[in-house]
Amino acid sequence: MLAQAASKLGFHVHIYSPDEDIPAAEVAGTLTRAAYDDHGALTEFAASVDVITYEFENVPAPTAAFLNARKPVRPTPSALAVTQDRLTEKEFLKDCGIPLTAFALIRGPDQLEGAIESVGLPAVLKTRRLGYDGKGQTVVESLAHARAAFQSFGGAEIIAEGFVDFSDEISIIAARDLMGGTALYEAIRNEHHAHILYRSHVPAGIPAELAEHARRIGELLLKKLDYVGVMGIEFFVETETGRRRLLVNEIAPRVHNSGHWTMDACQISQFEQHIRAICGWPLGPTARHADAVMQNLLGEDIDGWQEYLAEPNLALHVYGKSEARPGRKMGHFTRLYPLTKR
Ligand code: AMP
Repeated sequence: MLAQAASKLGFHVHIYSPDEDIPAAEVAGTLTRAAYDDHGALTEFAASVDVITYEFENVPAPTAAFLNARKPVRPTPSALAVTQDRLTEKEFLKDCGIPLTAFALIRGPDQLEGAIESVGLPAVLKTRRLGYDGKGQTVVESLAHARAAFQSFGGAEIIAEGFVDFSDEISIIAARDLMGGTALYEAIRNEHHAHILYRSHVPAGIPAELAEHARRIGELLLKKLDYVGVMGIEFFVETETGRRRLLVNEIAPRVHNSGHWTMDACQISQFEQHIRAICGWPLGPTARHADAVMQNLLGEDIDGWQEYLAEPNLALHVYGKSEARPGRKMGHFTRLYPLTKR
């Protein structure tokens, strides 16, 4: 979707990926299929482009740094390094004074008990790195359960988080350009199934002061990270304290699944906004011309494509991935409705 947006603006796109199944190659002019540590291939790739970006946060930080020494990588490798490790991300958020879930680092089995004591039960155990869409995380109800779960992570360092009692999950899609200009889409309400995003709704139907607070946090994070590009920020609306307040769950240094509705409900999508930002162009408007509900098509959901196409107010996107594994994001659709007052 980034490649499509770049091509629409007249840019030539060169994809670099170690994967076997590379849907972006279908819509990009040039493809390099090579490993993240193949310095020869990385050098040639950098020589052939003017600017480099990434679309998921698990690109190794040394790869981003190697490329950045040759051509600008945006968002910066330091923003990537902060956000690809749950511990550094949480410490960064804490230093910024942003409210977040109670957390504790667990380096080994002897630290389990203390960590669980400090965050309480139930707790959510998450790997420090390489986790997304519910991969590398487990909810535990007891210390014994936590011990078994720790073993299942194969000895990797993990984070324990307090389980948040939330009324809603919301997110913000925020963009910053090279000149420091910012553009934020309105708050989105998200539904998850089994830790994977299922639906995103705009308008979010949350109180205006919560939406405004989310926006202020977005502006602050863009500035603190000296960010260039689009960022996704996920929040819990916590209810435990009797009143509703925001806790940041995580930040994603990239275009975000909860912003896919912008392709069909806005003049400028999050993808175009990201391409504009990294290419040194000014950002565009973020206003919406319709109410929207985006739904992910996971695994075999994609087989319903004929049924989806029959709905007149529905925009279907199929990613062209070769195999529909359970829980794998194969596409999405956005249902559009007449614009209501926010
Ligand atoms: P994450 O990969 O951290 O974004 O987690 C995916 C989803 O799991 C979240 O959107 C929540 O629905 C759920 N989840 C993660 N962490 C917690 C938590 N500490 N308390 C309650 N639910 C959580």
